[in-house]
Amino acid sequence: MLERFLAFGYGLNEGCCDETRHFKTQTSGYKRMPLLYTDPSFLDHDTGEHRECADRLRSVGEMLKKSDVASKFKPGEIKAATLAQLGRVHSPQHIANVEKFAEKGGGRIESDTVVSPKSYQVALKAAGTAAAAVDAVIKGEHRRAMCLIRPPGHHAVPAKAQGFCLFNNVAVAAAQAQWIHQATRILVVDFDVHHGNGTQDIFYDSENVYFLSSHRHPFYPGTGTEDETGTGRGLGTIFNLPLTFGTSRKEILSRFETLLNDAAKRCKPEIVLLSAGFDAHKEDPIGSLELETEDFTKLTKQVVAVADEYCDGQLVSLLEGGYNVKSLAESVECHLWVLADK
Ligand SMILES: [Zn+2]
Repeated sequence: MLERFLAFGYGLNEGCCDETRHFKTQTSGYKRMPLLYTDPSFLDHDTGEHRECADRLRSVGEMLKKSDVASKFKPGEIKAATLAQLGRVHSPQHIANVEKFAEKGGGRIESDTVVSPKSYQVALKAAGTAAAAVDAVIKGEHRRAMCLIRPPGHHAVPAKAQGFCLFNNVAVAAAQAQWIHQATRILVVDFDVHHGNGTQDIFYDSENVYFLSSHRHPFYPGTGTEDETGTGRGLGTIFNLPLTFGTSRKEILSRFETLLNDAAKRCKPEIVLLSAGFDAHKEDPIGSLELETEDFTKLTKQVVAVADEYCDGQLVSLLEGGYNVKSLAESVECHLWVLADK
């Protein structure tokens, strides 16, 4: 099995799902191996010298070759998102715009976000894989999944790309749980150093998708204050933990755990989704909240504990940021060891 990770090319028909299956009819075989989704095609989103570059996943791939953690996971099947899946969270104009922009050769689709000729197809795979992981976990054969995908997604808003993100992968995953599996209580957690403004925007008035983000503040993208709590039927479903630079690691971990437990108590999630960005690491060149690699073990354990308490451990994690390729790989390894733990 390890060889499949070494080759960075997978073909197993895992992670597929009968999309008509109702959320409530899941089986209880959740103790099987967690799934790991990644694929060399994610390197084809060619951003050149940009911080969000293919070397990020190359570095993670090198880690997977060396670490025993890869043997604890079963490869999941990569799938491209359908227009219907994307259309649950993005406007048709935005989807068409990304496609056209890539077809014409790409460039900067907005100030921070680079598109290459293959980026549209790669972004479809990132979003589709997130949805496929939800299918597999809700189906019940695997209780946890990690999607090592790019481009990241949590800044993408309904009608435009933003902050290195073309399509909002975690939002597509949440919508899959909501619309295909009839989940009515979905908890999206985001510990990327940047506020997940796109995810918040998409579900701001949703009573079904709860969102918790811890992030450096004030910082890009500027949103994510404590008084942003949702609107209408979604009032009280948004939980923001803005953290000033210089907050101690101990305080960050403690406040994250407290707010996470509050959010989980309110939501009582049927599935937990995690926007796992590793750019709060002290070595990160564009983020940083001065976290150490080991802190991602602790943060991940806190999220796993919530999934274990409320939803038989059902957790789908997706890679977001993390721009020091070395500390990214080390942090992802810590994250995977926790997900691999029984
Ligand atoms: Zn980030």
